[in-house]
Amino acid sequence: MAALLALDEAQRRILDRVVRLPVEQIVLGEAAGRILIEPATARVDLPPFDASAMDGFALRSEDTPGRLPVAERIAAGRPASRGLRAGEAMGIATGAAVPAGADAVIPLEYVVDHGNNIEIGEDVQGGANVRPQGGDLRAGEVVVPAGARLGPAQLGALAAAGIADISSTARPRAAVLSTGSELRRPGEELEPGQIYEANSVLLAAQLESAGAVVERLDAVADDEEAHRAALERGLEADVLVTSGGVSVGPHDLVRSVGAELGIEEVLWGVAVKPGKPLWFGVRGQTLIFGLPGNPVSSLVCFELFVRPAVLSLQGASEPLPRFQPGRLARSLRPNTVRTELVRARSRVAAGEVELEVVTGQESHMIARAAGADALVLVPAGEEELVAGARVSFLWLA
Ligand code: AMP
Ligand code: MG
Repeated sequence: MAALLALDEAQRRILDRVVRLPVEQIVLGEAAGRILIEPATARVDLPPFDASAMDGFALRSEDTPGRLPVAERIAAGRPASRGLRAGEAMGIATGAAVPAGADAVIPLEYVVDHGNNIEIGEDVQGGANVRPQGGDLRAGEVVVPAGARLGPAQLGALAAAGIADISSTARPRAAVLSTGSELRRPGEELEPGQIYEANSVLLAAQLESAGAVVERLDAVADDEEAHRAALERGLEADVLVTSGGVSVGPHDLVRSVGAELGIEEVLWGVAVKPGKPLWFGVRGQTLIFGLPGNPVSSLVCFELFVRPAVLSLQGASEPLPRFQPGRLARSLRPNTVRTELVRARSRVAAGEVELEVVTGQESHMIARAAGADALVLVPAGEEELVAGARVSFLWLA
């Protein structure tokens, strides 16, 4: 392994090799989690007309206080038959169009309703309880910018703005391959020296949450022929994520077999703990991530290196992990040479996120990591971080 690359340098080298996938149009109902390629602009003003915010009566504010005849009653979706004349009111429902001539709505509970007419004891302000046309957004304005991921609020905004379909890339096709002769499927009996295979289900869940369509290949033994066949299969995907077999041991075959298959090595070795032997390469348009086999290493490396690439394949404008500010609950000694991602549990204390590092930080301790909801970024250093120290952390989804 050559000199270990710093976290940001490794991320940069990876993102440099990502080519966005081809763009397609998809209907909004299938767009959850997709990343918008073209900015989406509103087809209509939002709201499309002056609308009532309350069930009540539309009127001219200058006619209040007073007793006003009720000319008609307006429902949502059924506008008034004519404009409102001076000195009259119209019953109106929430979401109904405020008739021309009216400039305010008084809620039901503030009037005495006599059927044909209403009594208003107070002075109503112009504009009261009217949602002005375009008050949320104007037709032609950007509803959601390019590069944004479509969550519930974005989807709702697009639909409200009359957008039926959007441009996004195809979902990246990802293949996951675990390597190791010791691995058995959960549900099978363990023979001496064997362990259950944990990474493929873990990585598949992460890949899906990043928008990929995932194929889990059968785990392979530490055998060149088995590696060759499985890697070749995985290389048909846009992203191939392997686990195990990228370190320096005699049974670590992913790199050498990968090289035979024409994978160009872009980097091997990062100054990150866990994750030191991370390997990344490309063949054609396929990105290949060789993650270290310890489950916590796979988990962490995915968040730091694979997720950004998968998001970038889909055109994300800000694919890198979004670290948040928090404070350490207890003091912590950094690693002297590697940036460490420490698993922690969060709680809110005095309005801030406080992070309690979980016991058991070794990279095989996936059960301990399962009790954490945050990854704390601890830059390499000599100085102890004291309790209360400000740190950056990443939510573990
Ligand atoms: P390796 O990176 O192949 O040297 O593996 C490092 C450690 O992770 C070893 O203890 C392996 O047994 C373990 N390991 C590798 N792959 C997996 C996996 N898919 N699930 C659980 N543990 C694994
Ligand atoms: Mg191995």
